[in-house]
Amino acid sequence: LSPLLFENATRSRDFFDHAKEVIPGGVTAQIKHFDPHPVVMEKGDGSKLYDVDGNQYIDYLLSYGALIHGHGHPNVINAVMNQMKTDGSTIFGTPHQKEVEMAEKLIHLYPGIEMVRYTNSGLEATLLAIRTALAVTGKPKLAKFEGHYHGGHDQVLVSVNPGKRERGKPEQPQAVLESTGIPDYYVKNTVVLPFNQLDACEKILREQADEIGCLILEPVQGGFIPAEKVFIEGIRKLTEELNIVLIFDEVKTGFRVGLGGAQGEYGIQPDLTTLGKVLGGGFPIGVLGGSKEIMALTSGEKRDLLSTGAEQRGGPDAVFHSGTYNGHPTVLAAGLATIHELEKEEAMDELFRKTQHLRDGLENVYRSYGLPMQTIGTGSIFNLLLTDKKVLNYRDLSKADFTLRREIDLQLLAQGIYTKPLNRYSMSTVHSEEDLESTIHCHEQAIKEVLKK
Ligand code: PMP
Repeated sequence: LSPLLFENATRSRDFFDHAKEVIPGGVTAQIKHFDPHPVVMEKGDGSKLYDVDGNQYIDYLLSYGALIHGHGHPNVINAVMNQMKTDGSTIFGTPHQKEVEMAEKLIHLYPGIEMVRYTNSGLEATLLAIRTALAVTGKPKLAKFEGHYHGGHDQVLVSVNPGKRERGKPEQPQAVLESTGIPDYYVKNTVVLPFNQLDACEKILREQADEIGCLILEPVQGGFIPAEKVFIEGIRKLTEELNIVLIFDEVKTGFRVGLGGAQGEYGIQPDLTTLGKVLGGGFPIGVLGGSKEIMALTSGEKRDLLSTGAEQRGGPDAVFHSGTYNGHPTVLAAGLATIHELEKEEAMDELFRKTQHLRDGLENVYRSYGLPMQTIGTGSIFNLLLTDKKVLNYRDLSKADFTLRREIDLQLLAQGIYTKPLNRYSMSTVHSEEDLESTIHCHEQAIKEVLKK
């Protein structure tokens, strides 16, 4: 048997040991693993999760930020049930009204979006975004930032979290693959940039402008390290000048840092935008949005017939994009209901106010125990970093004390605060004042425990 996480976690541990026999590593996404074993959940309700041992947790993982209204919000559940009842089907496999309804909503909210295409995950959205961007410019290379995550496809599994394999100077990081099985092609065709260092980025982009067709970034790295305003404005100007398509990956920041994402807050129009997470109301989704001119490439209207008589999709004049479940009615029903709740008066402000209240409370507690800690983030996401140094990018981040943070997180789990160790905190509209006070109190208990050791 694996060691036990805490004394009331025996069923979780046993279940996980069993899961490992049928699922490699016992988890279906590697990020869900932590030592000694993950907690196995069986029920969610509002801001709470309940595990198989009957323990209750205040949930700050919220399925990696996706559940902005917590678990099982009645209006989201009703929208899903109504969609299936009214439509009499889970999916049509044809165009339908909700696709247009959601598209119009996103076009209204996001400055960089004039047209959209749906996918089933953030991963697929960034894949399509990059393919489209490279098609626009005809240049072969992708530029991305060290420490930025854009999903699990080959082209972006470069220098996401290189850790000890980190290569290159801070101002000129070198590409490092995050997985075996990825052809070397992606190292050669990926240019890695340092986040929030405009001069260094300018030098690299200018030197390789003939080859770099596309730059993808998270406007707020990991949802918590914001781009400095002058930095992101500088990147917008440079990419325009150098004919590089700029993609804002807002899978995490969309609806979390503002209704119109980070682009709405910064007042910057990227060429392409990817969305996901919150937008699906807890169901799988991704979106690619952008200007009419660029998005027209994904239309596929200019189809040729293949020699088999089948219609050719994609081809030299179009970017290939297809998918059985794209624009899924049930998912869009959940997403529309989710956005509807967020658009209610004061909903976003109240969410941000609560998040700030929690951040202030936590900072006070750590300060009172003499621990250097800062909360860093924007809108409804933040991270808790054990360092008093300014954190602007991946290299800065790696200097925070994650060993102590992990110990605190394990203590918090035993006390009923759920965030996967070392993960950021996502807030929901349904977290109560009582949840927040209890969370601050549990942090104090956790600090006391780790300081005893
Ligand atoms: N981009 C960003 C910025 C993300 O945070 C994520 C997921 N954490 C993705 C892309 C990938 O999305 P998905 O997990 O839906 O494939």
